[in-house]
Amino acid sequence: MPSPATYRLRLPGPTAVPEAVRQAMARPVVSHRGREFTAILGRVEELIKPVLGTRHPVLFFASSGTGMMEAALVNILAPGERVLVATHGQFGERFAAIALALGAQVDLLEIPWGRAVDAAEVERRVDAARYRAVAIVHNESSTGVVSDLAAIGAVLRDRPTLLVADSVSGLAGMEMRQDEWGVDVVVSASQKALMCPPGLGLASVSEKAWKVADRANGLPRFYWDFRKAMAAAQKPETPFTPPVSLVAGLCEALEMIHREGLPNVFARHRRLSAALRAGCAAIGLRPYGQANALSSTVVALEVPEGLDGGEIVRGLDERHGTVIAGSRNKLAGKVIRIGTMGHVAAGDILTDLMHLEETLRELGRPVAAGTGVAAAAAVLQ
Ligand SMILES: *Cc1c(COP(=O)(O)O)cnc(C)c1O
Repeated sequence: MPSPATYRLRLPGPTAVPEAVRQAMARPVVSHRGREFTAILGRVEELIKPVLGTRHPVLFFASSGTGMMEAALVNILAPGERVLVATHGQFGERFAAIALALGAQVDLLEIPWGRAVDAAEVERRVDAARYRAVAIVHNESSTGVVSDLAAIGAVLRDRPTLLVADSVSGLAGMEMRQDEWGVDVVVSASQKALMCPPGLGLASVSEKAWKVADRANGLPRFYWDFRKAMAAAQKPETPFTPPVSLVAGLCEALEMIHREGLPNVFARHRRLSAALRAGCAAIGLRPYGQANALSSTVVALEVPEGLDGGEIVRGLDERHGTVIAGSRNKLAGKVIRIGTMGHVAAGDILTDLMHLEETLRELGRPVAAGTGVAAAAAVLQ
């Protein structure tokens, strides 16, 4: 079995799960209709609302993040309705594919990968056609770029169009102020900055979105039906058996987040991602993506000319047990990605850099030992 000493899970999800969360998940499984579970679910909802920046009910499903993206769309669309999907990376393209599979009229807001969504462009598009929703990935994990949901929310606030945001890899690592920004549906999942294993999905739904989800003429849905979930959430329960142990784990993770303090959690993510980028730049791995929109939860790096990203990923894994991500799309071989979300500390970043330096040297790059580590340490001090 991999242990944290020999296996370093440094992906942009799933992420390393803290010991306290693993302990919480090892507790006996309780009835999902009993008072013990209701107490845990109620506490989770109470603790996650400030993370989402919402007063609205939060709905939980046994699901990966993609299921929640589908859940968001299937609940707000009616047959033939039009949706605008921003595609500036792999997850935006997935949003579009889901909308197409549901039979929606899908228009793409095509943005070059590595760039953020421009609110003015969203405004131009929603002025030109009638959209039920605009779907946007908050934190594009494939490119390491963040969208300005506050600016986009301001565009849609007084229009009938809903704003649906995938914050699977942003939530709890970066600011989310759902109500203030006017985000109508936020979906997320347990395995990223929420520091839990994969398998628990969540959605929070504004009043504006709820009116749409509650229509009788919407798309057919059963498991994902927010109406069932909303009724159960009053107790609080879930309509079907939830992953009870994951909910217990999430409760512990949220307690940890609040003990550290939400602003401190966000500041730590900013500081660690900045330090990792500085260290990587010093050893020839430049940050990928729009400089003023870089994510705090995932660091995407350009692979220098003459190297293949897959070789770096393999070298780190085989020699050091450090597991990072390449790219499986049009950036394959050209961009590598490291998670800076969740249970991450300065020592993790410095270790990443030491392993990267060694791996680059093994691949024939003239990188002096400590170059990246020193550049990161300068940011961390
Ligand atoms: C991880 C992630 C998802 C969800 O992927 P699953 O594998 O279905 O959990 C969705 N969107 C973004 C932006 C992600 O980073």
